[in-house]
Amino acid sequence: MAVDLSPGPEVADLAERTAKFVRDVVIPVEEEHKGVVHSDDVRRQLQQAAKDAGVFAPHVSAEYGGHGLDMRGRAAVFEEAGYSLLGPLALNIAAPDEGNMHMLEAIASDEQKERYLRPLATGEIRSCFAMTEPAPGAGSDPGALATLAERVEDGWRITGRKWFITGAEGAGFTICMARTSGEPGHTGGATMFLVDADNPGMKVVRHIDTLDESLFGGHIELDFDGCVVPEDAVLGEVDEGFRYAQVRLGPARMTHCMRWLGIARRAQDIAVARAAERELFGSRLGDLGMVQQMIADNEIDIAASRGLILQACWELDRGGHASQETAIAKTFCAEAIWRVVDRAVQICGSLGISGDVLLGRFLREVRPFRIYDGPSETHRWAIARRVLRRQSKAVR
Ligand SMILES: Cc1cc2nc3c(=O)[nH]c(=O)nc-3n(C[C@H](O)[C@H](O)[C@H](O)COP(=O)(O)OP(=O)(O)OC[C@H]3O[C@@H](n4cnc5c(N)ncnc54)[C@H](O)[C@@H]3O)c2cc1C
Repeated sequence: MAVDLSPGPEVADLAERTAKFVRDVVIPVEEEHKGVVHSDDVRRQLQQAAKDAGVFAPHVSAEYGGHGLDMRGRAAVFEEAGYSLLGPLALNIAAPDEGNMHMLEAIASDEQKERYLRPLATGEIRSCFAMTEPAPGAGSDPGALATLAERVEDGWRITGRKWFITGAEGAGFTICMARTSGEPGHTGGATMFLVDADNPGMKVVRHIDTLDESLFGGHIELDFDGCVVPEDAVLGEVDEGFRYAQVRLGPARMTHCMRWLGIARRAQDIAVARAAERELFGSRLGDLGMVQQMIADNEIDIAASRGLILQACWELDRGGHASQETAIAKTFCAEAIWRVVDRAVQICGSLGISGDVLLGRFLREVRPFRIYDGPSETHRWAIARRVLRRQSKAVR
């Protein structure tokens, strides 16, 4: 039976236009800045150029100025945007804004959508998502959530510490996950709160110095000290935060895979171009068997990653949770993308680790993907538990 995984004509056209926009407009800016831009002026210029090219905000619905792509459509377009480190920023599909838009569209009230989603979708403001805490708080295990939200007159008071909050500095608002029932160590109830940037109870403690540098705004430690928010700052229902996190995390895992797959392809293209031109030991580099093996393994990792992403997206588009599919795809892609970029560096030799090509930068950027959106070990643990549960049910 033939299986056609190609996107429909409209998505294919948008993906093609995105590829051209990235090649002609974004890559020159990326190369000028060595892949790292934290200037809001440059962000706005890139986003205006994406609007002019008709490729901006492909993921949000037409009501909010986007193209309303489903997950499979996003797979095609996000991979093209991800071909440059700055492509996702230009299209307004970078983390964490893209995942936040997805979640706000799914669960925010109409008023919250007007106040937060609309300016986020146009790129007028940025946002962040604050879940992770320094030990012993929430990390791989969300049940350890220690940040507390207590009821006060007309609202809630949030107290706690968050870290690794991407893009928090300069964000217009934070979606903060806080415990509203139960104790740390038990799942209990968590709630998501929309906290405006000018809330005096939320402060930037520091920029964390990290291996990666390209995600806009860097990674921030935030302090919530008597941070009082009104009742209408609750996103969705009280105590439903862990459930909503799944609304965000499943698709957000896949969109991270799509974007980084673009970088893997770019790394492979750089390596293949080098292998085709470099002469060694009386032959082209690309004619040497061990280099051919690395090139072939890269193709296999790229193709397998794309297949797993599409499989998980198909399940998400059908309305499924796709917990197993997204966990499998995320684990495989995070490791495969790292392997591809690492092999590309190896094929290029010393050039690969020089600043003359961006491979070294790509390597630093993709390494943390094996940790965020669930470390590989957490996913493997969850995948195996689901399989064993299935087995126990089958023998009953
Ligand atoms: C670049 C970057 C950006 C991030 N951005 C954000 C953000 O915007 N917002 C946010 O809230 N958080 C963010 N995070 C945090 C990220 O979600 C956490 O790092 C992740 O959930 C892991 O938590 P932890 O770092 O506390 O590691 P820990 O929970 O301390 O885990 C440490 C290690 O334990 C191992 N492990 C985990 N589970 C298991 C298991 N079941 N069995 C065996 N071993 C296991 C893994 O090897 C893991 O790496 C970001 C992190 C990074 C690196």
